[in-house]
Amino acid sequence: MINAKKMLITTDSFERYSITVRSRKHAIGRCPACRHDVELMNVDEAVSVTGIRTSELIRRTETNEIHAIETDSGHLLICARSVHELTQKMLEKDDGNP
Ligand SMILES: [Zn+2]
Repeated sequence: MINAKKMLITTDSFERYSITVRSRKHAIGRCPACRHDVELMNVDEAVSVTGIRTSELIRRTETNEIHAIETDSGHLLICARSVHELTQKMLEKDDGNP
């Protein structure tokens, strides 16, 4: 009689995302789109800064016009750099139309 054990080895691969919270308001993390460490803001902050409604903001994250990272806990963090670039474009567009 052969005494053998069958062993199943499984591996999981996952991407770990880390952010640094420097104060109660600001978090710093790596934006995969910018490939830089950027300030991350929550959706409410991004709405306040841009004046864009939440639904429109989410749509723009899907088209990557605004960069966003979804955390394991399901929170959406917005790349402040992309928000500032968008608001700059919005201001330039306003200036161009008398
Ligand atoms: Zn970004």
